[in-house]
Amino acid sequence: MRLVTTLFLFLVTSFTVLFTGTTAQAEVATPPSVTILMYHHVSETTPPVTSVTPAQLRKHLTYLRDNNFNVIDIHHALAGVRGEVELPEKAIVISFDDAYQNIFTAGRPILKEFNMPWTLFVTTDPIGDTAGQCMSWEQLQTLHNEGVVIANHTTDHTHMPRQLENETEQQWLARMRENILTAQQVLEDRVGITNMLFAYPYGEYNNALKKLVGELGFTAFGQHSGGFGPSTDLQAIPRFAAAGVYANLRSLGTKMAALSFNTHEVKYQDTLLAFNSPRPSLEIELDTSDFHTSQLQCFIGGVLHSPVWLTETRFQVVAEHDLPVGRSRYNCTAPSKKERGRFYWFSMQWIRQDEQGSWPD
Ligand SMILES: [Zn+2]
Repeated sequence: MRLVTTLFLFLVTSFTVLFTGTTAQAEVATPPSVTILMYHHVSETTPPVTSVTPAQLRKHLTYLRDNNFNVIDIHHALAGVRGEVELPEKAIVISFDDAYQNIFTAGRPILKEFNMPWTLFVTTDPIGDTAGQCMSWEQLQTLHNEGVVIANHTTDHTHMPRQLENETEQQWLARMRENILTAQQVLEDRVGITNMLFAYPYGEYNNALKKLVGELGFTAFGQHSGGFGPSTDLQAIPRFAAAGVYANLRSLGTKMAALSFNTHEVKYQDTLLAFNSPRPSLEIELDTSDFHTSQLQCFIGGVLHSPVWLTETRFQVVAEHDLPVGRSRYNCTAPSKKERGRFYWFSMQWIRQDEQGSWPD
């Protein structure tokens, strides 16, 4: 009798565990999402806006380690988003741009200490500069041998969408093609890379450039915020800036836990705006099942803009004031119903040209 009771209790407990387990799992099943962090300098003396100090970097990595984030390789992230491999919960990719010497001397030892994989987007012309501000080819080779992913960031860090005076669209596209392919060839020859990853300088792209980059076979990364998931445009993958004012872990912690909206359509004319088109319209059709549409908020230049819901699953947002000349972003976020404290996050970067077709750095 006693055995039967024990067996009965065991079965009840097992079923309860099984049932609770299944329910819990169903409740937290949000689409796969990755947050990509973007760093430049690791130094106490470089411009604060693009820098973290070694102490700050250490603090970020400690936070990731202590809060159950999983820092993964960029190839793992891409394969995971494509559904080819399992993505861990709270997946993070760490990336650096521009191959500054201080990334090698100050950043690398800290990343090694935490045993976290990272990616470095390299502008090839300044490599081995006599002033020693950038890494040498030997240092890049060392990183490559250590498993750091070395990738393309153009030859000269140009403002890519900016056409030269008297240059046709076709000539401009040919110049961009040449730039990307030259940088790729140099990285292949000098470092031996085989990946097809690209980061736009300043995160600047327009529709034509995005199309070219895709046709050349590249997966490309910007500098706008947002979660990276299955519906993300693979030639406009978001990355969260983690330096300067964005280094603060109170806000960066929320970004690290960001989720990717499941978008069905992202409709806009072009990210490169003519001087006289300063208020672009952004329309998004998306899966709204895991957030309250009334809680979706957009920020433009730090100002809250409530979106207009055109249907239950489609909203539009338009700037209420003219965007300034240069880069601006629309940021839209909504808290997840299933995962408390986590936010869906989508961002779009615009570039408004001045009357001469230019804009500041
Ligand atoms: Zn850069």
